[in-house]
Amino acid sequence: MSLLTGPMKHHLDGHKDLTKHKEVLKTIDPDTVWIPLVNGNAPCKPCVQVGDEVKVGTKIAERNDHFYLPVFSPVSGTVTAIEKFMTSGLTPADHLRIQNDHKHTAVRSFEPFDYEKASWEELLDFVKNAGMLGLGGAGFPTYVKYLKPENVELFIVNAVECEPYLTADYKNIEENIELLKTGTLALFKLSKAKAGCVAIKEDKLEQIEDLKKTFAGTPIEIRTVPDMYPMGWERTLVYQLTKKRYDKLPIEAGCILNNASTAIALGNAIENGRPITHKYLTVSGEAVKNPQNVYVPVGTRAGEIIEACGGYKDGLEDVLLIAGGPMMGRTIPNDKFVIAPQNNGLTVMPNEDKDEVKCLRCGRCTETCPSGLQPVRIQMSAAIFDEEELNKLYVMDCIECGMCTYVCPSKIDVTENVRRAKNFIRTRMASRAKEAKK
Ligand code: SF4
Ligand code: SF4
Repeated sequence: MSLLTGPMKHHLDGHKDLTKHKEVLKTIDPDTVWIPLVNGNAPCKPCVQVGDEVKVGTKIAERNDHFYLPVFSPVSGTVTAIEKFMTSGLTPADHLRIQNDHKHTAVRSFEPFDYEKASWEELLDFVKNAGMLGLGGAGFPTYVKYLKPENVELFIVNAVECEPYLTADYKNIEENIELLKTGTLALFKLSKAKAGCVAIKEDKLEQIEDLKKTFAGTPIEIRTVPDMYPMGWERTLVYQLTKKRYDKLPIEAGCILNNASTAIALGNAIENGRPITHKYLTVSGEAVKNPQNVYVPVGTRAGEIIEACGGYKDGLEDVLLIAGGPMMGRTIPNDKFVIAPQNNGLTVMPNEDKDEVKCLRCGRCTETCPSGLQPVRIQMSAAIFDEEELNKLYVMDCIECGMCTYVCPSKIDVTENVRRAKNFIRTRMASRAKEAKK
């Protein structure tokens, strides 16, 4: 592993006031949604056929390899096709196309659940069959990290949301704080942890007070963390709260974490018998007319959402569309992709000429990297496809936080170069594994 001793002490201008105090737009009701038939790299098999009628909450697909994940329809209407679409991860995948009848007819996907009376095994089953997944960006089935909760010291609900521009978690908590409480207490029970907390940035004063009131009398503590980037990254947060580091998984440091929106989704499943069908999403940046948060059906096209937020600012011919925030998000070449459950933002920026110049070898990227890496050396080794050196430089430990690009005085997109280096290593590993199978 890398030293993982990066500085982790950068205050960034959050630009959160663009959306934080505005009402959430909830009227977007697309004529068509496209539901990704993929979870991570694993395909999900449809349980419906073209021509079938579905309701909000009908199970329409499931992942069923070594993990299980059911997928539920966000609209009522008719399944009209299975077709390839680009995901926000920039990979093409099959999507289930559903024509929305705008009637919002719903079916109860499962019964509400008494998590307090339920046994640990019953609760785990509920989380699994309700299709809970990591809404903080990973999209991984939630139940998996609770399968063997041994020696868990601290259960953490991550409400830090350190990525600039994004306020979707903030608004979700503001509107659903009681569901957050239910979901958090249920996950705390599942974790068998000795202690539990909701971690939030110290500058969110009002929300800290609301959380303290809501969780009063429960075992969950509200813990504040500095307004630094990337404080919401799991490694940084675990270190901040426990002073422990880990190699691969937080459980090595005695911690289990879930994002606040995931806990809210579980609260909604427990209280109301509703699966994940909609998403809170921040639409922000300097190139969108009306930055605001939206609450949209999963599978809505990004372009339709931006249109509902007033479209791109007049006079801007070229914009940069980022799925996520500007630091950790992915730049997407067009707005035709659809919103997956784990997407939390669309950031739209003017695409200004960056006038990239040669690397000055100033070392700022290395000084800044929270993973303790040497991005400048990684990009040099990547340029000559030096696999051995890239491995020695722990390239795969990069969390794609964007800090190296942010600080680079030469305006080099260092993060993108490191990302490409990671892809190069992945490709090499995959082709070796393929060779070994022959
Ligand atoms: S994106 Fe850059 S700064 Fe961030 S972890 Fe990767 S190499 Fe380090
Ligand atoms: S910050 Fe930019 S200019 Fe400085 S060493 Fe890194 S890549 Fe080179």
